Amino acid sequence: MALREVLQFPDPRLKRVSEPVEKIDDAIRELASDMLEVMYDEPGIGLAAPQVGEQIRLIVLDTDWTEEGAEPNPLVLVNPEILERDGTIAWTEGCLSVPDFQAEVERSHRVRVRGLDLDGNEWSEEAEELRAVCFQHEIDHLDGVLFIDRISRLKRSMYVKKRKKALKLEGEDDEKQRPSKLGTSL
Ligand code: ZN
Repeated sequence: MALREVLQFPDPRLKRVSEPVEKIDDAIRELASDMLEVMYDEPGIGLAAPQVGEQIRLIVLDTDWTEEGAEPNPLVLVNPEILERDGTIAWTEGCLSVPDFQAEVERSHRVRVRGLDLDGNEWSEEAEELRAVCFQHEIDHLDGVLFIDRISRLKRSMYVKKRKKALKLEGEDDEKQRPSKLGTSL
């Protein structure tokens, strides 16, 4: 089966607030497995359901896999929420839904996250640095927030301009642009 397509800015569906998952059934498990496939294919270290057009609170991530030779260590989290935050960290982020752009974003250095695994068991974790950044970035997606909503207005408007120009060129070329492979794509 073909991979699911990742929605890209300025697709309005990326701005919506997603609904909690009511029941973890086969459709949810299938979606999670599709999302992992897309994430590893891109490659990215995280993906949220709204990025593949599903308005539900489901994220996948793998922050170990970026290391050379590391084994995949995927995490699927249903209805994730951040319970505690501590400190600040600035990280250069990218996003599979925001092509050809990276910017430094300030977030919490440490977070405690809670959610459910695919068997419906309660799951919680204390994460720091990249993993904390990844959780915050993905949970933002569930609230319709992109990392470019967390940078300066000037930087954001420069990107929006560049993106509009690229889309216009893309229309003229009739060729699909691939997201940038550089850096951390979440
Ligand atoms: Zn993202």
